Amino acid sequence: MKNIKDFDLKDLEEEFEKIGEKKYRAAQVFHWLYIDKVKSFDEMTNLSLELREKLKENYTICNYKILRKQESSDGTKKYLFDVLDGNAIETVLMQYHHGKTVCVSTQIGCKMGCKFCASTGIKFIRNLTPGEIVEQILAVEQDIGDKISNVVYMGIGEPLDNYDNVIKSIRILNNQKGLNIGARHISVSTSGIVPRIYDLANENIQCTLSISLHATTDEKRSKMMPVNNRYNISQLLKACKDYIKITNRRISFEYALAKDNNDNLDDAKELVKLLKGMLCHVNLIPINKIENGIFVKSTNENIMKFRDYLNENGIVATIRRELGSDIEAACGQLRRKNLDNN
Ligand code: SAH
Repeated sequence: MKNIKDFDLKDLEEEFEKIGEKKYRAAQVFHWLYIDKVKSFDEMTNLSLELREKLKENYTICNYKILRKQESSDGTKKYLFDVLDGNAIETVLMQYHHGKTVCVSTQIGCKMGCKFCASTGIKFIRNLTPGEIVEQILAVEQDIGDKISNVVYMGIGEPLDNYDNVIKSIRILNNQKGLNIGARHISVSTSGIVPRIYDLANENIQCTLSISLHATTDEKRSKMMPVNNRYNISQLLKACKDYIKITNRRISFEYALAKDNNDNLDDAKELVKLLKGMLCHVNLIPINKIENGIFVKSTNENIMKFRDYLNENGIVATIRRELGSDIEAACGQLRRKNLDNN
């Protein structure tokens, strides 16, 4: 059976027409799902009993069960959700002054193989559907009894390797008749799948694109991120420049600082050369420890020097706050889980 949350509003309208129902019924169902946030078709009381039965027979409403919830001393929460097929995914809630941000997973496992990230390496199982991505936000909202203002596609998985489902999920989040989260409050992070960056540029969605750059030479980047063997730094930066030209939007570059690897001033100099003149921002991430990881976090001194060098040379750079590392909820620490081994 199809999950009703896998449809964006346009698809749901088409689906309803296909099953011989009036198009406006789709907006009513959307309202129940994303504004009233009901859990069953029975609660959709402005639909006829007959239609409710028809929906029950043909569609499911995916509602996640929380398998585990951990809370960090900084208020960050990490959820383990049962995705109802024997697999489990992790989702993180971060609380900032400006609102609440959910970090969603997009795949069960990840194929990218980045050497510093715990989400990869374990077997890739499958893509999450649009509804399974959106449900992470609904389930967190229900748990905390509050609205989520920002969503970052930075959990387990490579969002642009699950492109269609990710785009559909953004359309559901973004729809004013749905969760109504502004595109400017949505960030998508990619390890650098160049053709999909062009696709995204042409979607006409005003979300923020984050690029995991992490190194300034192909030799170094390929050692950290195998995707660089497929799309190298110059192809990646060309795509970024084209993205900016097409969308007029600023790109955010992520750069995880690892001691004696990519954190000295020569690296900072190279980074300035690469990014000079681009409409961009650099987000420096002190690299987080993972099990069997070979990379060690840079010293605070080096991190600040690196940031200052960028700022003094015309590249706006900030250091990402480390949230949730005591519960392994920080960048790169999420892992695919299965139910007997969580
Ligand atoms: N697959 C997407 C989303 C990943 S998570 C991507 O690659 O962009 C978001 C960020 O955390 C990425 O920039 C990722 O490279 C970074 N990251 C992964 N592992 C990390 C670690 N151990 N420490 C710090 N950042 C890490």
